[in-house]
Amino acid sequence: MNKKKQHLLTQIVKTAEGIDLSEIRTPGVPIFQTSNYLYEDVEKGTDILLSKTPGHIYARYSNPTTDALISLVAALENAEDALVFASGMAAISSTTLAYCRPGDHIVSSAYIYGGTYTFFQNQLSRFNIDVTFVDPRDHDAIQKAVKANTRLLYTEPLANPTLIVSDLGFWKTQAQQHGCKLIIDNTFTPPPILRPLDFGADVVIHSATKYLGGHSDLLGGIVCAAGAEIETIRPVMKTFGPAMAPIIAWLLIRGIRTLGVRIERQNQSAMSLAQHLAAHPKVKKVFYAGLPGNQQYQLAEKQFNGYSGMLAFEIDGGREQAMTVMQHLETILFTVSLGDVSSLISHPASTSHVYLSPEERQAIGITDGVLRLSVGLEHVDDLKADLDNALAAI
Ligand SMILES: *Cc1c(COP(=O)(O)O)cnc(C)c1O
Repeated sequence: MNKKKQHLLTQIVKTAEGIDLSEIRTPGVPIFQTSNYLYEDVEKGTDILLSKTPGHIYARYSNPTTDALISLVAALENAEDALVFASGMAAISSTTLAYCRPGDHIVSSAYIYGGTYTFFQNQLSRFNIDVTFVDPRDHDAIQKAVKANTRLLYTEPLANPTLIVSDLGFWKTQAQQHGCKLIIDNTFTPPPILRPLDFGADVVIHSATKYLGGHSDLLGGIVCAAGAEIETIRPVMKTFGPAMAPIIAWLLIRGIRTLGVRIERQNQSAMSLAQHLAAHPKVKKVFYAGLPGNQQYQLAEKQFNGYSGMLAFEIDGGREQAMTVMQHLETILFTVSLGDVSSLISHPASTSHVYLSPEERQAIGITDGVLRLSVGLEHVDDLKADLDNALAAI
């Protein structure tokens, strides 16, 4: 048919239908800002829908830009395959729901991200999925907590903000002995610091919002695992619908390309700041697994490649003094998040751990005088000067 003869309305629709990308090559990955894809015939479409043939049919299931991110994060975590989600919580909720049925049980570290803790306590309980929280260092308690109906063991290798280390070798042995899966939230210790699958974890989760993105400009979640595990979680991802937007995948690919150099520098600066603060007269305690005085130093040394860019410290004073320090910082920013190129400080007792009672916070060392620092890429001497100046105000 001669297209010139078609009506203007048809011409507008048809002319905007797309360009042939087969000849275009770029060093980076383009954004496929598309929600659906053309397919040759109905049979092919059905096969793609049923995952019998590779290909794209609808962007809630897959998209070329998110596929490029999936390959990248699978390589990053030494995994066979991966899934991407709209947020870290979407990844965590979808993964745990994929493995559990009513009547099942989870053993989780008590020192996990507040959102995860709340999800376990308030949402999973509605489905009659019970969670026992344990101190991740208390191996007797973990052994006692595992029951016949335990499906998952769940922990974070480096707990927020006290930086308590979970011994992944021990957790893995427990999972193997009891036939349950070990799920690791690796947000605080991204590669090259730790690749949990190499320690026998079954599933690794990231809030990509933090270090993987690295620039406080996106929300995203990632799950990496062997193919069989991914196929257990994929149906939940497909039908609950927490798909990652193509532009977020594109931003994440861009962020992850500099992850290695960011982590290396942030680890170095955090170590230097931890040593500096440990020697400071107005600091009572420094939480950093990389300091030889730390009780878990040897475990951290064995398990991690670097001790992360996160640290916490307790000032000589309470809430009022902590607020004074935060208010006097000029370079370090005051926010709840972490993993950015900018250094960020937060007050765990009034943010991430506000859901605990003062007694519960006290028991795990999070007093009102504790501040958490996510070390960025500024010159470390400027960060030291900023902290010294703020500490001088108390
Ligand atoms: C932020 C965070 C999450 C939640 O991720 P979102 O992207 O905010 O949904 C989960 N785990 C840890 C350790 C986090 O820091």
